Formats: sequence, structure tokens, C-alpha cells
Amino acid sequence: MKSKLTLWMFGWAALCQMGYAMDRSHTIQSPDGRVHVDFLLEEGRPFYSVRLGNEVLLEKSPLGIKRSDADFTGQLTLQRFSRTEKVSEKYTMPHGKQSRIAYRANRRTATLANPQGQLIQIVFQVSNDGLAFRYHFPEPSGLKVSVEAEQTGFAFPSGTVSWLHPMHDAKTGWEKTQPSYEAHYEIEKPVGLPSPYSAGWVFPALFRVGQSGWVLLSETAVDENYCGCRLAQHSDGGIYRIAFPQAAEHRGPQDPIAPSAVIPFSTPWRLVIVGRDLGAIVESTLATDVAEPSKVKDVSFVRPGRAAWSWLRYDTEGTKLPYLQEYLEMAGRLGWEYMLVDADWDRLVGYEKIAELSQQARQKGVELILWYNSNGEWNTAPMTPKNRMHLPQVRREEFARLRQMGIRGIKVDFFGGDKQATMQLYQDILRDAAEYQLLANFHGATLPRGWQRTWPNLVTTEAVMGMEYCTFDQRNTDRQAQHSCVLPFTRNVVAPMDFTPVVMSRRIRGVQRRTTPAFEMALPVIFESGIQHFGLAPFEAEALPDFALEYFKAVPTCWDQTRFVSGYPAKEVVLARRKGKQWFVAGINGETAAKTLTLDLSFLPKNFQGVLITDSAQPDQLESRTVSAADVRKLTISMPPQGGVVLYSKPR
Ligand code: CA
Repeated sequence: MKSKLTLWMFGWAALCQMGYAMDRSHTIQSPDGRVHVDFLLEEGRPFYSVRLGNEVLLEKSPLGIKRSDADFTGQLTLQRFSRTEKVSEKYTMPHGKQSRIAYRANRRTATLANPQGQLIQIVFQVSNDGLAFRYHFPEPSGLKVSVEAEQTGFAFPSGTVSWLHPMHDAKTGWEKTQPSYEAHYEIEKPVGLPSPYSAGWVFPALFRVGQSGWVLLSETAVDENYCGCRLAQHSDGGIYRIAFPQAAEHRGPQDPIAPSAVIPFSTPWRLVIVGRDLGAIVESTLATDVAEPSKVKDVSFVRPGRAAWSWLRYDTEGTKLPYLQEYLEMAGRLGWEYMLVDADWDRLVGYEKIAELSQQARQKGVELILWYNSNGEWNTAPMTPKNRMHLPQVRREEFARLRQMGIRGIKVDFFGGDKQATMQLYQDILRDAAEYQLLANFHGATLPRGWQRTWPNLVTTEAVMGMEYCTFDQRNTDRQAQHSCVLPFTRNVVAPMDFTPVVMSRRIRGVQRRTTPAFEMALPVIFESGIQHFGLAPFEAEALPDFALEYFKAVPTCWDQTRFVSGYPAKEVVLARRKGKQWFVAGINGETAAKTLTLDLSFLPKNFQGVLITDSAQPDQLESRTVSAADVRKLTISMPPQGGVVLYSKPR
């Protein structure tokens, strides 16, 4: 009997090695054993599925890719399914939601061949917070090939609901600057509905699978080898598929849609972040865990901080010298590290006077950041300086000049596309900026896909419908509170986000703000951005009580730890973040009804002494009181409609 079994097992192993009997599933488990990813080859076509415990979060989902010289979508045979390899890595981030990160995952690789004998590998890495997977072309052929299409998809069980951000079609919007990831999310819609635009949906995309768990889809480690991808417009049957950019994006037809690279190469990591609760999503670092490690050796110049910014309230008028002087004064008084000088500074102030301003700023401990138009050709935005960022020689000359002027950073606006050529431009700007020790902030831009780790001088990026949109249109202002309660669960999970928060007066430009003062106070903690550009105007700061100014002096922009406390997308959110020994807990109410929450903040230190800032019963007024460790085990907070709350460790 024993020998028969041994013989049978030997035979089975031999069959497997010969590549027969392979149409069966293979599983990759997370280190804690809770996340299971099953790989399946069915009639030559590859699939995967994702479970969390016993709950199915992704059903049988398609894999496969079509190269210009090879089809890997069907008729595949499994050559090898590697044994589990343990991945363990520690890294630090100079800014972000968490400073010291340990990534642990289990990796298994499926090696598949098509009928021509060409090889593809699908690499699965499963960590406790989800799955990262990518295609790899291992053959050392040195051939340059393009990727024509992907089959890659995400099949959600019925009953799944979604929070999705539509992707605008190319060359639409203000001065043809779309796509720039500036839209409202569609709130809690059933899966399967099409995007309003043929361009589809942007990453990241949030899903709640019944009562089973949460899924956030995104991608990372996109560099000059590939295009930025999105989810396709149609998701029939709840299957969302990877799609490529549109032909008209960026420079239009002169740049191909299909990315190309020299074999061997890997495609970007696709991320399926999972959790039983929203904390697992909010606290996940998967987007940087599998990003390329830092390419900047000396990151000592990467100093996160707060920035004053006159443009939000005064538009281009704010770039005139008297406004800049006033904002600089405020930045100095609050101990902020930066001031951003926005569009048209070259015409309204000029290089020489900006250099003088930079010297004055440094005497106050403030450094300047200057705005640029990425180029004037692929959009019709008239703001200057332009045509200084897209040609290597010109860009590097400009960077050298900025360093001489004592400038610390650049904000580059209006990219409008996700093609491989645009991804290349982002990498080139970051590489050159790092060489000249300049910080970078992209606006009118794509989602940074892990770049904040690879290029830590990328301190933030817009890729969000930010505060500026609220100042453009009352309809956006009316939705500010709700929108702000979606972003911590979506956009801001995977990368720093330049929303440009904090407006204290009721009116700004032509609109009426709907949020309360404490809501605005909470945003610098709720929104993570390596440099936080405040909308706060000097006259607003003048009118604030001392305790509010103390808070603006104290609030950091980078964190050692982030904890989700409570909340639900588009309804409310409470987050706790720690910098050193100081904790900041902030809550915002996204709805138009008052709310009372009872929070368990017993994770705060035993000797905690805090300042609680809330909305006053008097309209547009703030209140503060001190809170001790005994109070925080069961802290009841009340937030008025579209109101907020801040609790932070008392400055010592
Ligand atoms: Ca913008």
C-alpha cells in the first residue's frame, strides 16, 4: 500500500514537472495566513482570486497581456509555480503617514509559456494588507517590444459598492488641461455602472464587498518603462479592467499609447489592498512597500513643512510683491518653513526681485518654492514661466539658476496625460530636481505611483479636486465636507496629496464656505502632504485666537505613525497621527447633520495632556479646553453639521 502511494506520488510529481495536469489552482498566503490568493489556469487562460479569511473579495479575475511579438492571454501552459519565498524589507520615509516601515510578504511566481515557447512570469506578493502582482518578461533577449493590451481585471462579487473617481477625457476641461485627476468621487454606487467618460476611472478605487471587507485598487512603481493605467469605462458583471491612456493625452499622436521596453522587464505592480475594516485600508503602506527604493542618496535637503500661499485667495493678483511680503511675514510668525510663489511670478515680480525676496525669506527661516507651467504646447494655459521644464538642457539650466537664487523647490503644473512619455517626463524632472536639491510638487498631474519613495524630493502632488475648485464654484464648496471625507479612504491612502486646506473666513473669491472653523483646523491632520500648502490668509490669522495660532505653529506635515480611529467614506472620519511623542487626533463631519461620537483613544500615552479644539455654539467661533489621559478612554465629541474637532498633545 505504502509503496503504491509513493509510486503514485512520484508519478504525479513527474507529471507536474513535465508540465502536465497543471490546470489546478495554486495559493499564495499572507504571513498572517488571512489573505489567500488563488492562481488558476483554465483552458490555457490565467486567472486569480482573492479571499480574506473565508470571504471572497475578488472572484475569478482575468490575467494576461498582449505584447507586440507575443500573446500571453490564452493557450498558456504552466512551466513552474515557485515555492513560497519570504520577502522582508525595512525602509524609512522622510515624509508620509509612517516614517519607519517593515514590509513582509510571501512571494510565488507562475512561469507560463505560450505555444511559441515565449515566457511570461506572474509575480504574486501577498502581505497582511493585500496583494501586489506584476508581469515579468524574463527572457534575456534584449528585444524592444511594446505592450498592446492587458486582460488584467478585478472581478467583484455581486452586492459590492464602490467609491470611484471618473477620469476626464483627454484635452477637455479648462484650457485642455485634463486629465488631471480633479473630480468628485461617485459615492457608494453598485459595481458595474459605466464611468461618465470614456477614459474610465482613476486609481485608487475603493470597494466595499457586502459585509465581508474592503478593497482599494491602485498601482505603483510606474516608471519610464510603462504608462500610467486606469480602470476601463465599462465594468459589466462587476469586472473592472486595466485600460491604457487615450491617444490625445499629453503631446497627442506623436507619443504612442502602447508602452515599450527592452526585455527583460517588469510591468508596474497592481495593488489589491484589503481589510476587514477601513483601518487596514487607511493605514496600509503597500503603495510604497513595493515601490522602487530611493534613488536619492543624500535626502538631508528633503525637509517636510508648512507653506504660506497667496494664490488660493487672490489668484494671480496674489503673486504681486506686496501680497508676497504679507504672506512671508505670516509664514515667519507661525514658524512655517516655506512660501509658495505661484503662476506668473516671472512677469509680475521677475527673477531678480524673487532672488531678493528669497534672501529676506531665509532671514525669517522661510524658503521659497516657485511655480512652473510644465510646457505650453500640450495645453493652452497661458501662465508662465513655461517651456522651462520639458527639455533636459533648459530644465537643468533653470534648476542651476534657482539654486543660485536660494530657491528650495518647484511646483510644476498642467501635465495632462498618463502615457509612457509623460511618466518619463515626471521621472526626469524628479531626477534633475534631486540633483539640484530641489523639492518638487506636481499639479494638474497624475497620481504619484510610489514616486514619493523612489524620489523623496517629491513632497506632494495635487491629483485631487482640491480647495481651489471650491473657490471656483459654489457647487464644489457645497460638497467640500463630503468630498473631504472620501479622500482619507482613497486618494490619500497611496500618496501625499496637495489639497491646500484651511480657509477660515466665510467667503473666499465668489463662494460661501460651508464648513466650520474646527473642520478647517482638522484638515492638516486629516490630509497628509509632505509640504502642506495652507490657504490661510494673513488677515484670517490676525483674527484667530491664540490657541488656534499655537496649533498652526505645532502641527507637523509628516508622521511617524497613523491610526484610523473611526469613520465611513463620505460620512465622517477620525484619524490619529503621531510625530515623536506628540499625538494629533482630528475628526471631520462630512454630512449636514450634527454628530456625537464616543471615541476610545486609550492608545494615547498614560501621561497624555491635550488641547481639544472644537466649534463653539457661537457661529464661526472656536473653543478650546484641556483634556487629560483619564478623559480620553471614552471621549465624547460633538461635531456640528460639516464641523470638526482637533485634539493634540499639549506643547511642552
Ligand atoms: Ca489644479
